[in-house]
Amino acid sequence: MSVTRFVATLSLALGASLAANAQEQVLNLYSARHYQTDEALYANFTKATGIKINRVDTDDASLLNRLKTEGAASPADVVLLVDAARLAQAERDGLFRPIKSRELESRVPAQYRAIAGNEGTAWFGFSTRARLIVFNKSTVKRDEVARYEDLANPKHKGKVCTRSGSHPYNLSLFGALHERMGSAALETWLKAVVANMARAPKGGDTDQIKAVASGECQIALTNSYYLARMLLSSKPEDQAVVERIGVVMPNQGDAGTHMNIAGGAVARHSRNVAAAQAFLEYLASDSAQAYFANGNNEWPVVQSVLLGNRALDSLGSFKRETIPVAAVAANIGKVQQMLDRADYK
Ligand code: FE
Repeated sequence: MSVTRFVATLSLALGASLAANAQEQVLNLYSARHYQTDEALYANFTKATGIKINRVDTDDASLLNRLKTEGAASPADVVLLVDAARLAQAERDGLFRPIKSRELESRVPAQYRAIAGNEGTAWFGFSTRARLIVFNKSTVKRDEVARYEDLANPKHKGKVCTRSGSHPYNLSLFGALHERMGSAALETWLKAVVANMARAPKGGDTDQIKAVASGECQIALTNSYYLARMLLSSKPEDQAVVERIGVVMPNQGDAGTHMNIAGGAVARHSRNVAAAQAFLEYLASDSAQAYFANGNNEWPVVQSVLLGNRALDSLGSFKRETIPVAAVAANIGKVQQMLDRADYK
């Protein structure tokens, strides 16, 4: 959406009185995002509306704790989080105020938002990341790891590395696998993956990529943006890592690659609901989508928005999983219990 059209839409949404007071308006944004390019994103909103953004930046866990502790006294208007599992947890904890927005419902695919009955929508995804398989090119063939299912193949004994099973990125992947495999098959799969591990889970996704390149592991899982960051890095040590690894967008022949989101919602006790909603609508506009996603090498939820991101372009177009992220998040309690039984650290 152009800035002019955005201002027109916003004025309609907020009404004349608010527009007149817009100069004094401040929107309190609690964000678990901390990417440089987000600055421009917020500045453009302020430029278009006169509404200032006051940011509280912290990690997801502290942000959710803070919202809970503050309760009804919380000054938060908008909450931005990464990962569907965390958004769903915040919704269960009653931290969001559902909204009705034709704009958001038409822009954000249904798969990437959480419908909250008659109340409207509890939260919206604004960018997507894929969970990929990386492998050591000198020891593993691409077609041996074409599907998430392959990580459980006994021939990969001693080769697989992942970060903690209960990290939200893995919980969401396993929640999606639960949706299509069912409980029994997922538990069998988790136990077989644990039996295939090269080492106990540790580190973040970037550490798994490096461990594959160094030969400590042969196969690992990573979110696409960590890989993209490495593909774009000019550091010789990162380029050396990239040269040794192959990348698979899993399950292209069937269910598609697992997708997760970064997203946002209106805070439960916001006293600026109309402006908070307008900010979320702004995040779904064409220009904001490009900023929001590209800043962290993600794909916009509005798929018509072009990025021109060299790393993401190099991954090509691919088949995405179509399971609603809210359904995935609903499985996470069950998955957590299975991880304990499978001794997946
Ligand atoms: Fe991350």
